[in-house]
Amino acid sequence: MLIVMHHHATDEQIKAIKAAVEAMGLRAEPIPGGERTAIGVLDNQGYVDDSTIRVLPGVREVIHVSKPYKLVSRDFHPESTVVDVAGIKIGDGHPPVVMAGPCSIESEEQMLTAARQVKASGGQILRGGAFKPRTGPHSFQGLGVPGLKYLRRAGDEVGLPVVTEIMRIGQLDDVCRYADVLQIGARNMQNFDLLKEVGKLEHPVLLKRGMSATLEEFLAAAEYMLAEGNSQIILCERGIRTFETATRNTLDLSVVPLIRKMSHLPIIVDPSHATGNRSLVPIMARAALVAGTHGLMIEMHPEPEKALCDGAQSLTPEGFERLMKQLQQLGGCLAGLDLD
Ligand code: PEP
Ligand code: MN
Repeated sequence: MLIVMHHHATDEQIKAIKAAVEAMGLRAEPIPGGERTAIGVLDNQGYVDDSTIRVLPGVREVIHVSKPYKLVSRDFHPESTVVDVAGIKIGDGHPPVVMAGPCSIESEEQMLTAARQVKASGGQILRGGAFKPRTGPHSFQGLGVPGLKYLRRAGDEVGLPVVTEIMRIGQLDDVCRYADVLQIGARNMQNFDLLKEVGKLEHPVLLKRGMSATLEEFLAAAEYMLAEGNSQIILCERGIRTFETATRNTLDLSVVPLIRKMSHLPIIVDPSHATGNRSLVPIMARAALVAGTHGLMIEMHPEPEKALCDGAQSLTPEGFERLMKQLQQLGGCLAGLDLD
């Protein structure tokens, strides 16, 4: 439930509303806005009887929000959240940010080479997985903590912040020590214990959409972290599982404008996992830009044919350089257009 106050409501009236909500055993969170303050009501299990609230002085209207997410929604938080990754801003009002690097960290040399290539082409955040959620147990599972160290060193060497995946709570200390952004992968989008623990941190988080998650479930997963206090959440559309087998997943680009409307959190797109095919990555990356994405996550490997993971969808360094030039040109064109 959202209690919208009149623009002339006094601090005393807002305090009285808060007290009335708390007396009902619920939590009240004032959300100051440019024009007027709203008060979000949290912790209710179902519909809240608002008859004692709507008559209190200063109340303009009471809006019932029946969605499983509130903190994530624009109804509760009209201003867009801009996530700050070591000074790089991701969100409304900032140019799209490109995160790139190999699927998995394979050696110190490979990571350093990739970092130099990402930096040289204009990528702003370096990616690489040390803990890999693989479909089969015999596939390369990642280098673990030594991999995290290689990633950090490579990022520091070229001056790029780093993002890497965390798969379980036991990895929190290590991943937080070495990474600027914690990635929660598609397979862990509904690992609620992990979401709650990560929600207690101040680290930025990249939450990837589960491959069979609806938009509502995706936003509800982000809500778990906001409910614990972490609002530095970047959402990532990475394709969903459909009947189509021509691509690895089906890129659901329509969620980009939907999320921009429904939520204040930034949304980025990963065309690599969405398509599984390097030849489709640049065009879908460009399409994502037109759809209004706040950023891209792109897999690039110094030698994709030798990659231990996801080589077929990884761009070559030359392919990545070409894509970055295209994105720059396209960004210039889009800047002058009214896309609403
Ligand atoms: C990844 O980014 O390498 C990854 C495993 O992604 P996803 O969780 O989207 O499959
Ligand atoms: Mn991958």
